[in-house]
Amino acid sequence: MDFQLEPELVQIRDTVRKFCEKEVTPFAEEWEKNEVFPRETIRKMGGLGFFASPFPEQYGGTELGFLANIIVAEELGRASLGLACCLNMQSGTCPMTLLLNGNEEQKEKYLPGIISGELLGCFAVTEPNAATDVAGIATKAIKDGDHYILNGSKMWITHSSVFDVGICFAKTDPSQRHKGLSAFIIEKGMPGMTGMAEKNKLGVRSSDTGQIVFEDVRVPKENLIGEEGQGFKIAESALTYGRANIAGRSLGIGQAAVDAALKYANEREQFGQKIGFFQMNKQIIADMVAEIEASRLLVYRAAWLQDQKRPSSNESTIAKFYASEAAVRAVIGAAKIHGAYTYSSEYPVARLYRDVMLMTAGEGTSNIQRLIIANNALGWK
Ligand SMILES: Cc1cc2nc3c(=O)[nH]c(=O)nc-3n(C[C@H](O)[C@H](O)[C@H](O)COP(=O)(O)OP(=O)(O)OC[C@H]3O[C@@H](n4cnc5c(N)ncnc54)[C@H](O)[C@@H]3O)c2cc1C
Repeated sequence: MDFQLEPELVQIRDTVRKFCEKEVTPFAEEWEKNEVFPRETIRKMGGLGFFASPFPEQYGGTELGFLANIIVAEELGRASLGLACCLNMQSGTCPMTLLLNGNEEQKEKYLPGIISGELLGCFAVTEPNAATDVAGIATKAIKDGDHYILNGSKMWITHSSVFDVGICFAKTDPSQRHKGLSAFIIEKGMPGMTGMAEKNKLGVRSSDTGQIVFEDVRVPKENLIGEEGQGFKIAESALTYGRANIAGRSLGIGQAAVDAALKYANEREQFGQKIGFFQMNKQIIADMVAEIEASRLLVYRAAWLQDQKRPSSNESTIAKFYASEAAVRAVIGAAKIHGAYTYSSEYPVARLYRDVMLMTAGEGTSNIQRLIIANNALGWK
């Protein structure tokens, strides 16, 4: 067993960290305040290979692996969770769905553009009345000659108003639940398809999130991924990677909370002492530090298993569950340390507070992760 990162991974971490210090952290507050979607920054990230590590070279990847991808997620999550939301669309569920389930033509057509950041991806599952209950999706895809006609609407979709290419899940057999679902590639500009960004969100405001409405949208039959009725299996196939990815981002925002708390506890003085001197503050700091370290081990293990091509579904679920809940606790800890200054825009804690809850909801809520972990432990798979 070796807990050291390979020199190559250290280099990736340092490169992303430097990029964030120069190109992300100085702008993170302003992007959030003014709901700026930093398209050019995402393009630069693509150009630097930040999305490429899990993918084969033939599609523009670098084959550096999933742990490399998680290290990118951690560093970006630490600098700006809003910006880091793009990761899942550029290197997680969206392109992984294509890589694992697409045919050769689909992979060659879309993967290089998504991975390079030239095309923005999206992954549209959630609907106004179907979120955790994925099989309850109501969007319909009815076959009509060489096309499918899509009608319905998606809600809370990352990149809803800016995406170039995406995966949309719809019912080809509305009489069925799981077995009626199919997966389609959708492209910007398809007549009848409208993407709208939700404005004034609580957090991750620099991420474009919102609705996509389908009104008689004609999707060519070549855009079906796999076969009709395989949609649920296809959605699940990429989720293991999506969960590890969000676990990496959770680790990053948790670390940002630790960074902020340590800095403030070393600066602020009361009763003639740095506030880090007080034992009750030390307890908060110790809990945060220990939990974020534990998260890092769980998250890196899940990614390492993926790199070994070993089963990692349960480990990714545990990592996502633990790291996201630990991140919430760490942000609350940082807020306690900052006291009234949590409310000041001079410090990053308010932004972390607004952003962090997404980590426990996206890619399956903590309740659902708990159910999976418990069912696996009980042998009720
Ligand atoms: C910023 C942002 C970006 C997002 N991006 C995307 C995206 O790109 N693509 C996409 O498809 N979706 C996206 N989502 C949606 C996100 O994945 C869903 O919010 C998430 O799946 C949870 O759905 P819900 O919040 O509507 O919860 P619901 O399903 O309505 O559940 C509400 C509560 O009930 C609990 N619950 C529900 N069913 C059960 C059960 N059987 N047992 C126990 N508890 C249960 C849940 O855990 C939750 O606590 C995004 C959301 C946000 C906020």
